[in-house]
Amino acid sequence: MTKLGKDQKRFNRLLKGLTPAAKLHQKYLADVNFFLHKYEILSRSLKKPPPPKFELKKSILFQREYLVGHVDTKWFGDKAIFCNAAATDSLCVAGLNSPPLVLIPKSKDSIEKSILEHEFVHVNQAILHKFPDSFGRSSIQQVRNIFLAKIKAEYEANFLQASRWPECIPNDLRFDYSIDAWCALRSITQAIESVIQQSGEGKLKPSTVISAMEKISPAVMKCLREYGATESDVVLQVSNIYEYFNQASSILYRALPPQTHKPILQIWTWAMYVTGNLNQEEVKKTRATLQRWS
Ligand SMILES: [Zn+2]
Repeated sequence: MTKLGKDQKRFNRLLKGLTPAAKLHQKYLADVNFFLHKYEILSRSLKKPPPPKFELKKSILFQREYLVGHVDTKWFGDKAIFCNAAATDSLCVAGLNSPPLVLIPKSKDSIEKSILEHEFVHVNQAILHKFPDSFGRSSIQQVRNIFLAKIKAEYEANFLQASRWPECIPNDLRFDYSIDAWCALRSITQAIESVIQQSGEGKLKPSTVISAMEKISPAVMKCLREYGATESDVVLQVSNIYEYFNQASSILYRALPPQTHKPILQIWTWAMYVTGNLNQEEVKKTRATLQRWS
């Protein structure tokens, strides 16, 4: 364990707050065993896609066991783009809804400890009913609330992960970034990627996303302050929100299939507009679209 100094108290507080009581965890394990038993019977008839394989893994941080599912690599890649692992509050397989778990693509033989532990934090959030809802078909206010809840959920997972395994912070950033700056960067960008991807998948109108993001920065700053983040450490990340929308749209546009492009392009154009990255000619070209946002 590295010396956390002044952050040790915050680490302890967060770890305690995110550890389900023993009884609650026992109930979770009972649900897991019930699910595995049913799955064992029902999965025999499953052929396509190859059925997931499940196991229980012990967390180093929480010293408890959690369900891990090894799933089809292509299926995982479509759902959790750029991820090595992902947590969900439930996986529907063979007509059964699983308890909260971590998903890993079958192509990954081993997964970095710190990544797995990050996902266990999300499983605990689900057990404790703190896991953010999905954005699907939400109102402007709901999108705003879910976006902030995602930032919080990611901040918690990243803070516990990076405090215990600082090597998960890229080498070139480790000496320049405080843990708060790193966690703010990760949590904000992950929430942004999630909202853009879901809009690309047609679950959320780009105009709803754009309206929900209006003057969002003070609310994001308030969330980070709740975790005791030093304001001067995170102010840059918060003020870069629209630039991150710009970058994430560009990356996701290239990575996702063509049917997602139209909504992503709308968000991307808006992000370029608000960050001053469109020249006059481009503004003219996209005026029809932009008028709807002004
Ligand atoms: Zn996460």
